[in-house]
Amino acid sequence: MRLRLDVSPMNELIQQLEFFRDIGITTLDIAVPAMKQNSATVKQTSSEVSGNAPALQAIRDDIGDCQRCKLAPKRTNIVFGSGNPNAELVFVGEAPGFDEDQQGLPFVGRAGQLLTKIIESIDLKRDDVYICNVLKCRPPDNRNPEPDEVGACNPFLRRQLAVIRPKVVCCLGTFAAQTVMQTASSISKLRGRFYDIDGIRVIATFHPAYLLRSPDKKREVWEDMKQIRAELFRLRS
Ligand code: URA
Repeated sequence: MRLRLDVSPMNELIQQLEFFRDIGITTLDIAVPAMKQNSATVKQTSSEVSGNAPALQAIRDDIGDCQRCKLAPKRTNIVFGSGNPNAELVFVGEAPGFDEDQQGLPFVGRAGQLLTKIIESIDLKRDDVYICNVLKCRPPDNRNPEPDEVGACNPFLRRQLAVIRPKVVCCLGTFAAQTVMQTASSISKLRGRFYDIDGIRVIATFHPAYLLRSPDKKREVWEDMKQIRAELFRLRS
């Protein structure tokens, strides 16, 4: 497989190469692309801090010290979401794990480090995108979200997406895909193509935690990420 390599600062370049190595890409085209669309040229950048930020803060205020479901007593922190409030691309995960519960931030553990590499593989920085979860509180022992918990929390995710109105939403794993797309289909069936949900282009891919257990699935994730990059490019032009 041949890939265009976007030459950027050295640590990003190393991370990108490591990701490519991990997913089995052996040949690279090294060139400065004619139509460069790196994070410096993306319309919304991490330096833009206003825009949707107050509306997102209003949602966070409404969540308050949430006691709407049975996860509340055991959580350390509510994990609302983080990143660019004006992002073109939003990643939706399942629920906070141990590290996220401790820090109050999404995807900061091992799966989060892999998600950062995945984001950088399509020439974006983590700060360019917005990252949140279906559930804002950690399920005990990282068990699967239960329907009453999803029912209590989903309205806040829907409001976050309605405020940000990204060009593309990428659902990470089964729960995010099924919740955002309101379907019972499996992630294997859903991934790999775009759906129009409430006027937003939505795609699903495997969850980074699943990739840590099944690295052979990275190739499919890379295919999905290339689709996202192409769709963002198409929607910008
Ligand atoms: N897994 C998720 O789905 N979300 C996180 O924030 C961390 C791990």
